[in-house]
Order: sequence, then structure tokens, then C-alpha cells
Amino acid sequence: MQLTDMKYFSGTVITPDGPIEGYVLAEDGLIAEISEGVCPETPVSKGFIMSPPVNGHTHCADCGMTVPNNIGLNDLVGPGGLKHRYLSEASKETLTKNIKEYSEKSYSNGIGTFIDFREGGVEGCKLLRNAVPDAVIMGRPVSDEYDPSEIDEILEVADGIGLSGINDMPLSYSESVAEHTKRKGKMFAIHASEGKREDIDDILALSPSFIVHMASAEKMDLIKCADEDVPIVICPRSNAFFGLNPPYATMEEVGNRTILGTDNAMLCSPDLREEAGRYLSVLASQGGTRKKFWETLVIDGRKLLYDEKGIGLRPGMKADITVFPSKDGTVDGMFMGNERILRFNMTK
Ligand SMILES: [Zn+2]
Repeated sequence: MQLTDMKYFSGTVITPDGPIEGYVLAEDGLIAEISEGVCPETPVSKGFIMSPPVNGHTHCADCGMTVPNNIGLNDLVGPGGLKHRYLSEASKETLTKNIKEYSEKSYSNGIGTFIDFREGGVEGCKLLRNAVPDAVIMGRPVSDEYDPSEIDEILEVADGIGLSGINDMPLSYSESVAEHTKRKGKMFAIHASEGKREDIDDILALSPSFIVHMASAEKMDLIKCADEDVPIVICPRSNAFFGLNPPYATMEEVGNRTILGTDNAMLCSPDLREEAGRYLSVLASQGGTRKKFWETLVIDGRKLLYDEKGIGLRPGMKADITVFPSKDGTVDGMFMGNERILRFNMTK
């Protein structure tokens, strides 16, 4: 008789309809059962049980860089800033090493895939694809003018295009790139209203698959994003570093879909415990809810990348499970102590 691979997990299970108290049975690479109530056998792990969260926004190659104290947003990441000089001067080997270390850390922190805004044109995308085959890559063209053949080359390797910001380039350039990317059936995304408010009508006219930040957006801008159903990737720790105060409760109030991202690797490690902790404290201080917290951490990122079958834990889906421990079983307890987040990928 063939032995089956069975594992029980107990605690709070994050389902597409919200959290339930109970347990999960994973069997032969699939979720066999999710039930409320007491776990019938000793679980392999306890805590908040969820699908591996997607990290919605990273720049993974700069994790080898040291950031000087008190540096401003533009001097660090703006065009010609310190980060871009680092990336253009670092060798391929150094960048590959940075990226691999980042990806390993990300996995060991319980994260599923990460969506990277990869600088350096087609070469930059190839570097990441070779180092981390399952990363979601948003490539960035390097030519000053719209170059259709460059976009084609990038999209052969990447999952989409991620641009720096609407005010960093002529509008006609962003329009051509966005149109080209969507014609190819790939994702188009752009940073929006990070340190300064930008024109949301121009941004939404590009029909982005998602936008990143909206830390300096006003309520009307957020309402327009909700009306167009464009998800917003938010980066709480990175925004805090630059002294920004993003309107998370307003995002909840107007119905924005939000996804957590850890942003620049040189500033923030791929650690969603840290990111989620920061998010929860800001969200709660603004009057946001726990329901929104869960949607942002687990559900909406997966919704962006996967079909119905891949969102939130449910019977029949692949048994790839992240367990987020909690000191006392509560959401606040997730951010006490240093117990590791664990990922159990039973599909391999
Ligand atoms: Zn970014």
C-alpha cells in the first residue's frame, strides 16, 4: 500500500471569505479539507494558516547597496540617483548574487512569489529570470524614446512593464508603452503619487493592471482607482522611511483593492511580518479594520496573479501553505516575539 503524505495545520485559516477558527488537512499535494473546530490530530504547525502571500512590489537587485542616512527620495531612487548609479556600475555577478540571496530570504520568510520592477531593460530582466525563474518580472525599458522592438524583447522575458512615474517621462511615451504592453496581453504598471500627488486621470488613462504607492494621493484619486478597479500596491515601511503618511483607511473606505509590497531591497528586507506589522499599526491608528488587513496581506495579491482556484485557502487547491505564528493566537500576537513564518510547499 502506498503511504500518503498527510499534514494537519491548526489555528486561524484565511479563506477567500475571511478567517475561520479550525484546521487544514493537506494530503498528497492538495488541500483535502478545511473545517471549523478542533484539529483531529497533532498539527505540524499552528498559527494563522494562509496561501503564501504575494509580495506586490520589489526592486530586488539593489539589496547589496548601503543607503546613507537622511537621503531624500529623489537623490536615492530618482532618475540618475544613487540607486541607478549602483545598478549600472555593479557587475552581472554581483547583481545575480544579490537577487539569489533576496529570493532565498523571501522564500524562508514564507512569501510566495514577488513582483519585481526590474531595472536595466531586457538584460536586467534576463538576469532576474535566470536567477529566479518563477519571479513575476515587470521590466523597464532603457531607451529614451519609445522603441517597439525593445518592448517586444523585454516582453519575451518579462511578465509586463513597470515604469518609474508619469512625470519622469513624456506622457506620449507612457501611452505608447502601455498600449503596446496590453496589446501583447501582458501587465502594465507604474509608480503613482509616491512623494508628490500626480494626475490620476493621466495615470488611469493608461489602464494599468495595478499602480504602486498612492501615498500622497487625495480621496478623489482613490475613488477613481476604485471605480476603475485598479489595485494599489502599498509599501508601508518604504513610505515611512521617506516620512510619508499613506491614507490606508481611506483606501478601505472607498473600496480600493490593496496589496502589500516591500519595495527597494536596499531599504526593506523581503519580510512581510515587518511590512504587515507596520501596515496594521498605521491602518488601525486610522480606524481601518482587520478584514482589510487580511485582504491586503493575503487575498488581493493572489487575486492579481492567479485565477479563482489560487486565491485564499480552499479544498482542492494545491497544498502550498504559509503559517504565520502568533504568540497568543491574536492578530497582534503575530508581531510579538521572533517565531519564524514557515512555508510548507507540499506540491514539490
Ligand atoms: Zn518601486
